[in-house]
Amino acid sequence: MEFKPFEKKVWLASPTMHGDELKWIYDAFEKNWITTAGENINEIEKQLSAFIRTKYAVALSCGTAALHLAIRLAGEKIYGIPKVGHGALEGHKVFASDTTFDATVNPIAYEGGEAVFIDTERETWNMDPIALEKAFEIYPEVKLIVVAHLYGTPGKIDEIRAIADKHGALIVEDAAESLGATYKGKQTGSFGDYDIISFNGNKIITGSSGGMLLCNEKEDADKIRKWSTQSREAAAWYQHEEVGYNYRMSNIIAGIVRGQIPYLGEHIAAKKAIYERYKEGFKDLPVTMNPYDEVNSEPNFWLSCLLINEEAMCRQVRGEKDALYIHENGKTCPTEILETLAKYNAEGRPIWKPMHMQPIYINNPFVTAQGNGRARSNAYIAENGCIDVGADIFNRGLCLPSDINMTDEQQDIIIQIIRSCFE
Ligand SMILES: *Cc1c(COP(=O)(O)O)cnc(C)c1O
Repeated sequence: MEFKPFEKKVWLASPTMHGDELKWIYDAFEKNWITTAGENINEIEKQLSAFIRTKYAVALSCGTAALHLAIRLAGEKIYGIPKVGHGALEGHKVFASDTTFDATVNPIAYEGGEAVFIDTERETWNMDPIALEKAFEIYPEVKLIVVAHLYGTPGKIDEIRAIADKHGALIVEDAAESLGATYKGKQTGSFGDYDIISFNGNKIITGSSGGMLLCNEKEDADKIRKWSTQSREAAAWYQHEEVGYNYRMSNIIAGIVRGQIPYLGEHIAAKKAIYERYKEGFKDLPVTMNPYDEVNSEPNFWLSCLLINEEAMCRQVRGEKDALYIHENGKTCPTEILETLAKYNAEGRPIWKPMHMQPIYINNPFVTAQGNGRARSNAYIAENGCIDVGADIFNRGLCLPSDINMTDEQQDIIIQIIRSCFE
C-alpha cells in the first residue's frame, strides 16, 4: 500500500459541533439555570416532540435512563405496581431485538424481566417479524416488545405493530440510533407505545450525553417527569409514595442539544453522502452495504456498514475476546479489514454482537424465523434448518468509518485500503 497512516484519526462517528451550542450554554449561565430545569430543557422537549410528532417528550440523563423508565412504565401498565424493592417485570418474559446495543435490553433485567431475543431479518437488519410471530407461538403470554432500529435504519414497523396488536402487547421503541429516520413518512420514535432517543456523543446529534422519552398520554409524561426527579410528591416537604430516580437532563446538556437540533437535516445529508460514496466505491467488490427498505423508509444513515459475501470470506475465528484469521487471495474478513483500518489510523467496528451470543445473556431464550434457536438442541437446529441471521451478519459484517468530519479524500483512501484487503 502506498498510503501513509492518517495524521489525525478518522473516527467511526464523532461529534459534529457548530458553535450555536455554546450560545445556549452561555444562556443557561446568564440566567443561572444550572440545574435539571430551565429554558433549554423546555425548548428541546417542545421542538423534538413537534418534530417527531408525539404529544409529549421528557428530557432525561441518557437514552438508557429513558429506556429504563419506558420499560418500567410499560411493565406497571401490564402487570401492576410492584412492591418496593421489586422490578415491574419480575417473572415475566419480554421480546427484544437481538442485534442491538445492550442498552436496549439491559433495562429489562433492571426490572427483573427475562429478555427473549428475536432474530434479525436480512432486509433491514432489525427484528424479524416472522421470528416474532414464532416467539408468540412459543410464549403466548408475553405482553411487551422492545424493538430497536439498528444503525439508523427503520425496521419492519407495520408488521411488528400488527403482530403486537394481535397479541395485545405493548411496544417500547428504541430510536436511539435513528433520530430523523422515517418509515412511510413518519419519524422513528413515534411508533411505539413509549419511545426513546439518545444524545450520546456518537449519535446523529449530541448533547455529550442525554436522552429523551416520547409518549402521547399526559398522565404518562407526568409520571416519567416525577420518577426522573426522585418521585417527589406535591407537598411542602420531601414526600415520596413511589421509588424515584435521578434521571432528569441537565439544562447545560439541553443547551448543547438545542444548538444541535437545527443541524439534524444537515447531518443526515452528510451521512447519506458517506453511505452513497462507499456504495459506489465498493460496487464491483463481493460485498453489500447495510440494506434498507427503499420503498417505505428513509434511514438517517448514522453508520455505513459492509457485509462480505459468503464466497469472499477468508477463514476467521472469534473467541470471546480475541479473533484470528487466515488471509486468502481474493478473500478477506471483518477482522482483517478492521486491523488494516486501524493500521492506517481509521476506526471501524464489528457489527454489534447479538445479545443471544453475549455471556450475560447466554441462558436467555433466542427465537429464529424457523423456530426456537437455542432452548432446544443443536441437533434440533440442524434438523429444522434454523439459521441464526444475527450471528451471520456479525460474522461477515463490519461498521465503516462514518464520521461527518471525514473528508471525501480521506474516505476515498479508506475505500482503497478496504479494496486492498480483497487482493
Ligand atoms: C446509544 C444507544 C442507547 C443508549 O443511549 P445512551 O444515551 O448512550 O444511554 C440505547 N440503544 C441503542 C440502540 C443505542 O445505540
